[in-house]
Amino acid sequence: MEALYYTKQDNDTVMCQLCPHHCHLLPGVSGACRCRYNDHGLLTTLNYGQCTSAAMDPIEKKPLRRFHPGSLILSLGSWGCNLACSFCQNWEISQCHSSCHTITPQEAAALAIQEKEHGNIGLAYTYNEPVVWYEFIRQTAPLIHEADLVNVMVTNGYIEEKPLQGLLPFIDAWNIDLKSFQEDYYRSICHGSLSPVMRTISLAAAVSHVEITTLIVPGKNDSIDDMDREAAWLASLRPDIPLHITRYFPRYHMTTAATSVNTLYALADKAKQYLRYVYIGNI
Ligand code: SF4
Ligand code: SF4
Repeated sequence: MEALYYTKQDNDTVMCQLCPHHCHLLPGVSGACRCRYNDHGLLTTLNYGQCTSAAMDPIEKKPLRRFHPGSLILSLGSWGCNLACSFCQNWEISQCHSSCHTITPQEAAALAIQEKEHGNIGLAYTYNEPVVWYEFIRQTAPLIHEADLVNVMVTNGYIEEKPLQGLLPFIDAWNIDLKSFQEDYYRSICHGSLSPVMRTISLAAAVSHVEITTLIVPGKNDSIDDMDREAAWLASLRPDIPLHITRYFPRYHMTTAATSVNTLYALADKAKQYLRYVYIGNI
C-alpha cells in the first residue's frame, strides 16, 4: 500500500519523512529500513500487514513494570528496522525479510478481543521496530481502543515529529530505547542519532505512560558520567519515568563479552540518585 509521510520529487524520486533518515529514493529503490520502496514514484510500504511473530507475553517482558503489572498482552511484530544496531537481539526479523503471514487490522483487533478471555489487555507492537510498521499500526490502534483495550509500542523512538503526533493519541504506553547519551554511540553502533530519540521521549512522556530501556554494552556506554547525565535529563522530564538498565549479551555483529552484573548495579545506583524507579534486566 502507499506509505504515509513522503514527498514526491523530480524524476519519480521520493523523500520519505517517516524517520530522521529522510531517505531519498530513486524508482526501484528501498530505504535504509528495507521496508519502504519507491514504486514508480509512489512510496509503498512492503511490510504492511506482514506478521512474523505473535505471542501472549507478560507485560513485564516488554519491559513495562508500572503499567498494568501482572497482566498479559498480545504482542505482534513484523520485519524491518530503521536502525542497524551491531548488537541487535532480533536481527533475524529486524535486519532481514523474514517469513511471515498476512494479517489485516481487523483480524489483529479480533485476535486481541478473542484473547481477552485469557487475560489479554491489548496489543503490543514489538519484536522488530514498529515505527516502520507505521501504517498498519495507525489503522489497527483505533480498533483496539474501540474494543476498550490498550496499545503499547516497544520502540527505538527514531521517528519524525509529525508521524509521532499521529500516533500519540492511540498509544497508551511506550517502552522507548535510550541506547546511550552519547551521539557517537548512536552514529557508530546504531546508525542513527540521539536528538530525535530525546524528542520522542519528551513528547510521549508528556501525554502517555513511558518507560525507558538502556542496554549497557561494556566499554561502549557503561560510563557512570553518561548515566549521570541520562538520569538527570529523564528526571527533568518526570522523576517517575521507570528506567530499565539491561544486560547485553553478544549477538549479531558484536562479540564483546556480556556486561558484568556489578556494572549494572553501579549504574543503577547512579540513576537512583535522580529517578524513583530503576530496574535491572536480563540478568
Ligand atoms: S522509514 Fe525507512 S525509508 Fe523512511 S526515512 Fe526511515 S529508513 Fe528511510
Ligand atoms: S533498534 Fe532494536 S530492532 Fe532495530 S537494530 Fe537496534 S536493537 Fe535491533
